[in-house]
Amino acid sequence: MIITAVDVVRVNVPAYDPPFVWRAGLPGSEPQADGAWLVIHTDAGVSGIAFALRGAMLQDVVDRRIRAELIGRDPIAREFLWERIWELDRIDRFPVFVQGVIDVALWDLAGKAAGMPVYQLLGSYRESLPAYASTVTFGSIEEYLDVADQCLELGYTAIKLHAWGDAHRDARLSEALREHVGPDVALMYDGSAGFDLLDATYLGKALAAADFLWYEEPMREFSVTAYSWLAERVDVPLIVAEVAEGSHMKTADFIATGCAAAVRTSTGLRGGFTGAMRTAHLADAFLLRAEVHGPGVANRHLCMAISNTTYYESLIDSNPARRPSDVDASGDTHAPKLPGVGFEETWIDGPPAALAAALAD
Ligand SMILES: [Mg+2]
Repeated sequence: MIITAVDVVRVNVPAYDPPFVWRAGLPGSEPQADGAWLVIHTDAGVSGIAFALRGAMLQDVVDRRIRAELIGRDPIAREFLWERIWELDRIDRFPVFVQGVIDVALWDLAGKAAGMPVYQLLGSYRESLPAYASTVTFGSIEEYLDVADQCLELGYTAIKLHAWGDAHRDARLSEALREHVGPDVALMYDGSAGFDLLDATYLGKALAAADFLWYEEPMREFSVTAYSWLAERVDVPLIVAEVAEGSHMKTADFIATGCAAAVRTSTGLRGGFTGAMRTAHLADAFLLRAEVHGPGVANRHLCMAISNTTYYESLIDSNPARRPSDVDASGDTHAPKLPGVGFEETWIDGPPAALAAALAD
């Protein structure tokens, strides 16, 4: 089997409804966006697809570098192609998602060729996993407590806060939430890189006192040393290396400093399934968990294939809270069943028209 064509199919992504916000300083939910499907065709009649929210960026790198690299190659040679994209990255400095989109499309192709969901190709570990309710940013402590009650009612057993990005206010929220839900609900906090070391330390002490399970990305992940200093100053477990570029290689540096109580992994930010699994296995070698960042069907495969992981991230994006269709009434998510990645599982009326036309080529 060889790759015969690589298409970028631009699609309109409607604005998030209702819109939501993140912490102060960050843009909130996406307005109407220019997304794209990457489509990799082969001479065997099987194609692989993957989605990116940055259509113009993906179009640019595919037109300039990726198409010429992939055409004529064996799509099953994912390890070789993963290394090739890193090599091209040295010149192009690709956006961090590019490596992932290509790798996910190759795994989708491989799964479809094998007639098997990707998590089974990876080697399945489980068929379901608990999801945690990962909040957007709400307006007040009272609203967060109300949303937390709704999440527990919806079946979730764990809640992660994305809050205001104000260390003192977020500390008061964390204390109030622990007081409200009692000792048995797992609580986590995600700072989306909003703090410097001083504020991150203040908030980390409050999270430790409130018995939070993990403290995620309080600072930009540029300085591994800053994270190692934070780990010396706070008792709450740090979960690290969600966004830092360099896939498992950068994660290894975080682990080596001793700051990592656990690490993040994902198809989107670790270079697809290939980089995400390397990251998970790296962590496993040190008896660390690799918790999967972000919802979506590709990440659900990771949840089913990684032994050292405990939760699926499920976004609670509104009040009233709504439980996404990939989480059941017990708060669990389940293994995708379609061959490949199974993006098709959410297409009620078939693929977008432009994608259908590309697949029919
Ligand atoms: Mg995060």
